[in-house]
Amino acid sequence: MRANLSILITAVLLVFTQSACSQQTRKMKLNPLTPAEQAVILHKATERPFSGEYENNYAKGTYVCKRCDAPLYRSESKFDAHCGWPSFDDEIKGAVKRIPDADGKRTEIVCANCGAHLGHVFLNEGFTPKNIRFCVNSISMKFIPDKVMTEQEKNQETAYFASGCFWGTQYYLMKAPGVISTTVGYMGGHTKNPTYKEVCTGETGHVETTEVVFDKTKTSYDALVKLYYETHDFTQVGGQGPDIGDQYRSVVFYTSENQKHIVEKYIGILTEKGYKVATILRLAPEFWKAEDYHQEYYEKKHGTPYCHIYRKIF
Ligand SMILES: [Zn+2]
Repeated sequence: MRANLSILITAVLLVFTQSACSQQTRKMKLNPLTPAEQAVILHKATERPFSGEYENNYAKGTYVCKRCDAPLYRSESKFDAHCGWPSFDDEIKGAVKRIPDADGKRTEIVCANCGAHLGHVFLNEGFTPKNIRFCVNSISMKFIPDKVMTEQEKNQETAYFASGCFWGTQYYLMKAPGVISTTVGYMGGHTKNPTYKEVCTGETGHVETTEVVFDKTKTSYDALVKLYYETHDFTQVGGQGPDIGDQYRSVVFYTSENQKHIVEKYIGILTEKGYKVATILRLAPEFWKAEDYHQEYYEKKHGTPYCHIYRKIF
């Protein structure tokens, strides 16, 4: 009778533990698995040697867990052990858990995040200076190649200018040579995803800003800063032209120390010329794109800005 009771208690405990576990995995968002993947990942089978997808893959990238997408290994630690399975001599820190295998001899490796079976780890075989081999089933992983930057992307830089109503700021910057694209939006405030209406209350702290993506081989940040200063009244405090309010201030949000130094250089030149520059210089926080009807406003309306006029200074 007592024995029966203890079996019952154990059974109840098991049910509770299991349901807690499955609740935990449920929260993790796991990928659905094919029967072949289930055999290895859940039931610890081993794929046939020399049959897996990644045995001979030496492309640059990250191997992630097939079940939960957690990064496990980098391509830099992959080597050829001629064993028929992908081999690594290092793991991404904390990504892989080692547990004694059921066979009592080997050490099993599982995904530290979701517990997916990966393979086994072997020491002191002398393959690489690290002297360790993570022998992993291809089917337990998914390879994510590193994104290669195109020549065009390498030559791109982003700048953020605020000079009053963003319709006018964008009007001049989008026409400048070497500019790839411009977008108007909000920046510098304390709310996420602000609307135009919210920004106009003056309570969000956001400034109407134009994001400029330009080709460094065709123009320069210097050229854009000059244009910025030549198309607005940077001496006006608390607004621009008839538009009064914090969202219309003259602000440059810099994305690098280099951009900061360039703006400081032009503020210096303008100060020497006798101008009292009101521009605020700030490190660029998150940019929030404005509503579609604000984008390229004057182009769509075939109009010209009332608040921004070009005048040569430099
Ligand atoms: Zn996982």
